[in-house]
Amino acid sequence: MLLEVRDLHVEFHTRDGVAKAVNGVNYAVDAGETLAVLGESGSGKSVTAQAVMGILDIPPGRITGGEIVFQGQDLLTLKEDERRKIRGAKMAMIFQDALSSLNPVLTVGDQLGEMFRVHRGMSRKDARAKAVELMDRVRIPAAKERVGQYPHQFSGGMRQRIMIAMALALEPELIIADEPTTALDVTVQAQVMDLLAELQREYNMGLILITHDLGVVADVADKIAVMYAGRIVEQAPVHEIYKAPAHPYTRGLLESIPRLDQKGQELYAIKGLPPNLLAIPPGCAFHPRCPLAQDVCRTDEPPLYEVTESPVPRSSACHFWKECLHG
Ligand code: SF4
Ligand code: MG
Repeated sequence: MLLEVRDLHVEFHTRDGVAKAVNGVNYAVDAGETLAVLGESGSGKSVTAQAVMGILDIPPGRITGGEIVFQGQDLLTLKEDERRKIRGAKMAMIFQDALSSLNPVLTVGDQLGEMFRVHRGMSRKDARAKAVELMDRVRIPAAKERVGQYPHQFSGGMRQRIMIAMALALEPELIIADEPTTALDVTVQAQVMDLLAELQREYNMGLILITHDLGVVADVADKIAVMYAGRIVEQAPVHEIYKAPAHPYTRGLLESIPRLDQKGQELYAIKGLPPNLLAIPPGCAFHPRCPLAQDVCRTDEPPLYEVTESPVPRSSACHFWKECLHG
């Protein structure tokens, strides 16, 4: 396995108390595999990814337990300079907002080239040639002419391609993409997602795709982990989740996907808001919003029940997963 997150716990110390942002998360992704991590904002999906990358702001964020095993090594036991070597070279991250992630006063050629000059000791000229090659790779038209342009001279979609090129530069084993297409309009979203999926296959990388939108992952993910209030509440191969969700929260997310044939109709949206992490509800954290909630849900926290064993394990943290699956 390329990456295994085991029983990860992350806390944030705030003036009002301790927020449990990640509460015992387990997931894994292998080379050539795409794991989609799904959830509303505040579910812990980004925080988990930042812990994997080693970019969790400390303080106030603090990893209080668990392991992050990458290529057989627990990253949490490494020193910061060892982490830094892995970051960029072996794992890279793509963020939602390219404009604030790219340096506005450097040309894209200089920014891409810098990767090769710093990490590979290349000359300016060779690094520039590599930058053009990468821009071709992510299908930016007229790369040779545009390599000397600044980020603001590119469209949102093209900037996101530049971000992908930056992430790919050193041919990492793992890419984490956090809402990589959220800021783009729908057609461009699909193009960027297709490109990412294609490059992921070509380079045989592991890909963790973080999103709040179940609609964008159907065609690209192998498996899905759904997060709620810092926990994984359902984990399954992608086609099985679309066929029949085993958790009411996943069902709500599925029913919130806009469908062309329902244009104009009001979308089902999960009622209520995600919980305040300083005061996670007792029992099942989803119970205040759950249409299937029973008394037991208000008192007993559901374990992650095994729904199916093989070939790919499937699990749900719902006392009534069978009812949900067959209902
Ligand atoms: Fe809903 Fe209860 Fe299942 Fe939680 S455990 S998702 S409240 S039915
Ligand atoms: Mg986020």
